[in-house]
Amino acid sequence: MSKRVAIVTGAARGIGLATTKLLLEEDVTVVMVDWDGETLMEAAKDLGDVLPLDLDVSKPDDVATMIAETEKAFGRIDHLINNAGVADFGPMAETDFERWRAVMSVNLDGVFLCTQAAAPALKKTQGSIVNIASISGLRASTLRVAYGTSKAGVIQLTQQQAVELGEFGVRANCIAPGPVRTKLAMAVHSQEIIDAYHDAIPLNRYGTEVEIANVIAFLCSSKASFVTGQTIAVDGGFECTGVGLPAL
Ligand code: ADP
Repeated sequence: MSKRVAIVTGAARGIGLATTKLLLEEDVTVVMVDWDGETLMEAAKDLGDVLPLDLDVSKPDDVATMIAETEKAFGRIDHLINNAGVADFGPMAETDFERWRAVMSVNLDGVFLCTQAAAPALKKTQGSIVNIASISGLRASTLRVAYGTSKAGVIQLTQQQAVELGEFGVRANCIAPGPVRTKLAMAVHSQEIIDAYHDAIPLNRYGTEVEIANVIAFLCSSKASFVTGQTIAVDGGFECTGVGLPAL
């Protein structure tokens, strides 16, 4: 049997890179997609069975290239992990239309475009989709007018995908990560914010990229064969407390 093939978007760093590494350990071939070509090529250099593609998931032509290159190289798609995203936080008054569209075009349009384009191939393999939302998509908080709305859209879009693709044996699920200890988060979160998160999260800490990747790999795998249309918060229990997110 041929190896499984996964497309991971936003694979140059963070959750996408951790997911790539985990899938490689599970003997899955990974198509790594990112628009930050330099970081992507550096990350992909020593990983082994990967195909790095420097593409923008919000551009229909780029997405068509992503599918064509994957099919040309491997002839199949088993998993699509829609992880590419932009985290841009600001109040409504400072979110002009251009900024709003920049967030929506990657976080929401990108998930729509990549899934629509991958669906015919996923139907052939009875594959699976995992979309990366955020706990910001599950409840409102300050500064997340565009980001939170885009992520709430991803949660609904996941359900639409699950309903429409279910009859073909294709599953679609969603992860809503809480605060994750990425380099970027650690650079922008003040000590005050870090302390506030630690107090508010029942497990009293940030998550790691690998802890998010573990749940993505589970949802991809046949262990989750009867799970579809679901959003799983991977957040140390933060979501169930109902405590608001700190203003960044
Ligand atoms: P996380 O904390 O979820 O890992 P990051 O911001 O560290 O988030 O990673 C998101 C990745 O998605 C980055 O590598 C970024 O370059 C990539 N990305 C963002 N927008 C696009 C896009 N339009 N097309 C492809 N990749 C993108």
